Amino acid sequence: MDTIKYLLQEQDIPKYWYNIQSDLPEPAAPVLHPGTKQPVGPDDLAPLFPMELIMQEVSTEREIEIPEPVRDIYRQWRPTPMYRARRLEQMLDTPARIYYKYEGISPVGSHKPNTAVPQAFYNKQAGVKRLTTETGAGQWGSSLAMACSFFGIECEVYMVRVSYDQKPYRRGLMEAYGASVTASPSNKTNAGRSILAEHPDSTGSLGIAISEAVELAATSDDTKYALGSVLNHVLLHQSVIGLESMRQMEMADDGVDILIGCTGGGSNFAGIAFPFIGKKLRGEGGPRVIAVEPSACPSLTKGKFAYDFGDTAHLTPLTKMHTLGSTFVPPGFHAGGLRYHGMAPLVSHLHDIGEIDAISYNQLQTFRAGLQFAQAEGILPAPEANHAVAAAIEEAEKCREEGVSKSILFNLCGHGNFDMQAYIDYQAGKLVDYEYAEEEIAMALAGLPVV
Ligand SMILES: *Cc1c(COP(=O)(O)O)cnc(C)c1O
Repeated sequence: MDTIKYLLQEQDIPKYWYNIQSDLPEPAAPVLHPGTKQPVGPDDLAPLFPMELIMQEVSTEREIEIPEPVRDIYRQWRPTPMYRARRLEQMLDTPARIYYKYEGISPVGSHKPNTAVPQAFYNKQAGVKRLTTETGAGQWGSSLAMACSFFGIECEVYMVRVSYDQKPYRRGLMEAYGASVTASPSNKTNAGRSILAEHPDSTGSLGIAISEAVELAATSDDTKYALGSVLNHVLLHQSVIGLESMRQMEMADDGVDILIGCTGGGSNFAGIAFPFIGKKLRGEGGPRVIAVEPSACPSLTKGKFAYDFGDTAHLTPLTKMHTLGSTFVPPGFHAGGLRYHGMAPLVSHLHDIGEIDAISYNQLQTFRAGLQFAQAEGILPAPEANHAVAAAIEEAEKCREEGVSKSILFNLCGHGNFDMQAYIDYQAGKLVDYEYAEEEIAMALAGLPVV
């Protein structure tokens, strides 16, 4: 079976990011100040982010130029390859044509550096000395640590406790890039101390780690905060994935019927999907788009579309998004990057207006799919990416049952080479499916802010 790989040239790295805010039929709901409940202005966000990123956050320009120093670093791993999954198709005996865009070839093994590099660049330009951030599985922390080391910025990472314990190699990588890493909740911040006082054994959550990182940035002059997902400017930077994929589908001389991405905060999904959805919004047609999330943290499929805080200690502005409630602490399943209580406001908005379908899977089904993929294609997917793999396999199997050949494209957003313990545990039968925590989520949702 021939390997089919679609490779672009260096000069094909996009020169502009694509901003879906330019094509929305109605704008997404404004971000509100947690005190006044009025829309925030750029100055309200200035303690946390440099002005260039704040302007990108609210921009309605369709194309935003990628600075040359950022493109130059992108050149290290971009353009990323797209493959036709011929051996997987054969294994599934499906008439479907399965394509995957592979973001795992970046130095840290995922899509996250696509935004870490420009974020570090704009902070450096603004004279920032130190960046704080949170990380779940450690993918984002290692991406920002790498970008900070490129630009000579200090990097301080709050790592969700359960991942800190499960994934020591990711921590090692962050430290290798020169970052300092603290398990969250920690005793270093008010937010962390108050959680520990109530729950000394807290496994942590992205919401808690965000509180710690934001608190530090808000209370120090030379320090700002960087977020690896959710925000509009993060989704903007990730659009390079979809823009390149469009060119590669042209090389394949094929269209896309079904487009699939996994969703934690929504950035790799938006990265591959938004350029396609934008075309659809402009009336040029486009694929059915599916967001895949874990059943144990189902913000799009079971959450409420409402204003909520981005963090547990309620330090962030209020955004309208699909949320499970900012106090919800998801169980410790292995796709750490998908353990966030909320969903990007832009992804939530597009789901709300019917442009995006959402589905959820339990962890055992996703690991089963990941091993099937690895045995066919050789790449071991990140546990997060297994959610997209599982959906692609399910759609390909439907094609077999219905006897139709559809074109399926999914984002293989990272490799799982740092996640071997999860695979070892799965193969040893030690992983379990977590029940959807109905009561806890109902409780967290009851605490949504009144707007
Ligand atoms: C961080 C991460 C995710 C989840 O974040 P999104 O913003 O939803 O993309 C998914 N996959 C991988 C490999 C990650 O590193």
